[in-house]
Parts: sequence; structure tokens; C-alpha cells
Amino acid sequence: MSKPLDLDDLAEYDSDDEVGNNEQGGDKKPKGVVKDTHTSRQASGFREFLLKSELLRAIADCGFEHPSTVQVECIPRAILGTDVICQAKSGMGKTAVFVLSLLQVLEPGDEAKVTALVLCHTRELAYQIRHEFDRFRKYLPAIKADVVYGGVPMAEHRTMLKERTPHVLIGTPGRLLALLEEKTLSLRDVKHFVLDECDKMLESMDMRQDVQRIFKETPHEKQVMMFSATLSEDVRPVCKRFMHNPLEIYINDGAKLTLHGLQQHYLDLIESAKNRKLVDLLDALEFNQVVVFVKSISRADMLNKLLQECNFPSITIHSRMKQAERIEVYRKFKEFGARIMVSTDLFGRGVDFERVNVVFNYDMPEDSDTYLHRVGRAGRFGTKGLAISFVTTEEDKKVLQEIQERFVVDIKTLPDSIDPSTYMTS
Ligand code: AMP
Repeated sequence: MSKPLDLDDLAEYDSDDEVGNNEQGGDKKPKGVVKDTHTSRQASGFREFLLKSELLRAIADCGFEHPSTVQVECIPRAILGTDVICQAKSGMGKTAVFVLSLLQVLEPGDEAKVTALVLCHTRELAYQIRHEFDRFRKYLPAIKADVVYGGVPMAEHRTMLKERTPHVLIGTPGRLLALLEEKTLSLRDVKHFVLDECDKMLESMDMRQDVQRIFKETPHEKQVMMFSATLSEDVRPVCKRFMHNPLEIYINDGAKLTLHGLQQHYLDLIESAKNRKLVDLLDALEFNQVVVFVKSISRADMLNKLLQECNFPSITIHSRMKQAERIEVYRKFKEFGARIMVSTDLFGRGVDFERVNVVFNYDMPEDSDTYLHRVGRAGRFGTKGLAISFVTTEEDKKVLQEIQERFVVDIKTLPDSIDPSTYMTS
């Protein structure tokens, strides 16, 4: 259960569109209980968690056969109300940890109140999490879940909160604060507080301040759960200030963060050769879906246009687009309505596109954490994938070096041809 905390002072936060976030890397010498979530254990069945039968049916409908390691480690403790701080490998099912745990413990009363609050850093991730709740509450229709984020008229959220108050509210900090400030939203009945991509939400002082302001609106006695694939030593104490005696699960060894189904290569080339090379590779490679990461909004628009002119089924997403359009693009890509997505770091974390098997770093990320999150968009839940990074500047080379050292991975230059069976899950 959590304890109160003080406010820090802060500034506005940047969008994830432009490179400029200086996230900390490194999982060096952790303190507290340390477990390796990658080491596979004898996977038990979901039945052993003694979940509600309605949940077990929904899990079966989703085709989940066995819980992943992170699910085995966390769900049994989470449903007992323990605070949890968990570093889970990209794409290994951390969302289901909190979605299933919350649906297990929530008991909808006569009067709906916001009982669980889930915060995350982008609107599309919030939207995605809401859909995860919907998938698993299929046979528990009395438990309601809904989402709020910016770019949608406030009136819609006011009406929803008043007329269809959800038990689980998912949201991004800005809109939640706006609703709190005008007192349309009350968090005084919150018993569970979840932060997804928690390092992203707490590392920058400005976003941290927003999270703290929201946290202070909730009762002291509650369960707090936080998750990310990257949790540097610097951010762990910050996370723990929100918690009381949490279950701590960290991966300390960078090598264990590496996704084993994911082949990783780089190409050393000059800036002006990038477009030609990308087009050639898209022609040569076999892929289900591809995400191409670039470092700015203008480059996303430019590259998307170019790919479309070359008749590639490409779409783009970034924060300068209207919100309805952003969600439409997210849905289209999720539903396989486009094969190529050109994205800023807006989609660098959290979002789950099952069919993505190739990721390009058209522009190299700024640090190894961002690299890990980006390439984790391919190879979801143990599937195969391929990550190709374009290395142009001395700075890019340094980042590549840092990635190889930290994750103990030998990223070789891209060979002339790659056997598709090595990166396409059959
Ligand atoms: P996440 O890491 O939460 O984004 O999940 C990554 C992907 O793995 C999602 O597409 C989930 O639906 C899927 N997934 C999560 N848990 C399981 C499981 N136990 N069995 C099969 N797929 C899963």
C-alpha cells in the first residue's frame, strides 16, 4: 500500500515526437529483491492463479495458453494487493498483468466509482490499454472501463464520467488533470493506481509533476503498480517513493533484455543514401508489417510521402496530427490496413502491433533505452523479427556501441541477403 509524497517543481514536458529526451540507460547494481524475469520457469497455467471463471474464459478466447514469466511472477502477488514495480521485457505481456489483476479484484458495486486508475504517456497507448480491458472483461460486463486523453472534446469525457462512470479509468496526465481541476473527475475512491511505461512518466520532471498531482488526488491507502521494459537505477527510487514495500522485479543484466527472436543489423551510410536504401530494402525484404522510426515530425511526413509516391502502403503518425486521425491511423495499422508505418518516437514504446516483424531505425535513436523500446515493436511475445538501423554520424556510432555493450549483443552490418525464415514467423 502506498504512502503520500511531496511535490517536486517542474516545467512543461516535450512530446515524444522529437529526439531530445535524455533517458538514463543502465541496470547496473540493483538494490532490493532482484529477479530475472527472462529466465524461463516452468510455466504454470492461468488456472493456478485462481482467477474468476469469467476471466479464464476470456483468456482462453484470446488464445493465451500459458502465462509468461512476468505474469507468473506478478499476478499472484498483485491480486493480493501488493505494490509492484516490474521491469518486464518488451512485448512479454505486462499489460495483462495489471489488466487481469484488476479485473480479478474489482467488485462492481451498485454505484459505479473510479476504483482503478491507469496512467500512461501517449493517447494511443491509453486507447490500447482500454481495449485490453475490453477483451478481458468480455464476460464481466458489470465492470466498466473507459479512457480519457487530450484532443477529444472535454464535453465527451464529462458526459462519460457523469453518466457511465467507469470502474477503471485509463488516461494520459494532461486530460486527467484538466478533469480533476474542473472537478468533473473524483479520484477519492481509487484503490489501485497503475503507471505504465513508468520510467518515461517519472524521469522528466514535468511529467513527474503531473503524475504526482494526480497521485495526490487519490486516497493514501491503495495499491500501486508500475511497469516498464527499462528501469534505470536512477528512476527506481523515484518509483518507490510512490509505494510501500513493493514486490520488485528487475532485469539487471542487459543481455537478458535482448529479444532472442529478433535479428539486429546496422548499415553504415551517408544521409543522402537513406531513402534509396530504405526503398531497396522494402522491395527486397519479406515482411508482414514494418515500422520506420524517424527523429522528427517533418521527417515522418516527408518520408511517408516519399514511400507513398513509390507506391508503398505507408501511413504516418505523429503528435501534430489531429487526435481522431491519430487513433484512426493506430487502428488501421493494428487491423493490418497498412503495411508500413513511419513514426516518431510517439510509437516507440508500449504500443502492440502483433504483425510487425521488421523495424527500421531510419534515424538512429538517441540512446540505448529508446533503441530497446523501438526494436521491441517487432518480435512481440517471442515471435521472430528483424531490426535494421541506419548509422550515419559519429553520434549514431556511439549509440550503436552503447547498445552492443549494454545488451551484450553483436549487431553486425546488414548482409546482402537474409533468409526470410529467420525473421518471419511461419
Ligand atoms: P504486452 O507486452 O503487454 O504489450 O503484450 C505483448 C503481446 O503479447 C500482446 O499482443 C498480448 O496480447 C500478448 N500476450 C500477452 N500475454 C500473453 C500470453 N500469456 N500468451 C500469449 N500472448 C500473450
